[in-house]
Amino acid sequence: MVSKGANAECAVYSNLKRATVTLADPSEYAKRNDPLWPLDMERLLVHELLHIPIRAFQPDEDEPERYGAMEQFIEVCASSLVSLSGYQRCGKNRESFRDKSMGKL
Ligand SMILES: [Zn+2]
Repeated sequence: MVSKGANAECAVYSNLKRATVTLADPSEYAKRNDPLWPLDMERLLVHELLHIPIRAFQPDEDEPERYGAMEQFIEVCASSLVSLSGYQRCGKNRESFRDKSMGKL
């Protein structure tokens, strides 16, 4: 279960070389109905996984500008990776995929 208001979380245990990613239940996510962050479980998972290598450079949460910049960086990377993955899955229809996905990043 994720913390209240969170869509997903990642707990990193560097000394154990392990991490736990928790995603909100899709039904709970749907109840929030946030138009800015439509449900995309793949993007959420990639976002949380990107927190693992970036953790070594993560600013403290009491540095909101730097923390926010890190979150934006992770989100851009996650969206790009998911978009690229979709592009590669399209095979012959890559031109169509590119046309449809323009503006989603
Ligand atoms: Zn994040």
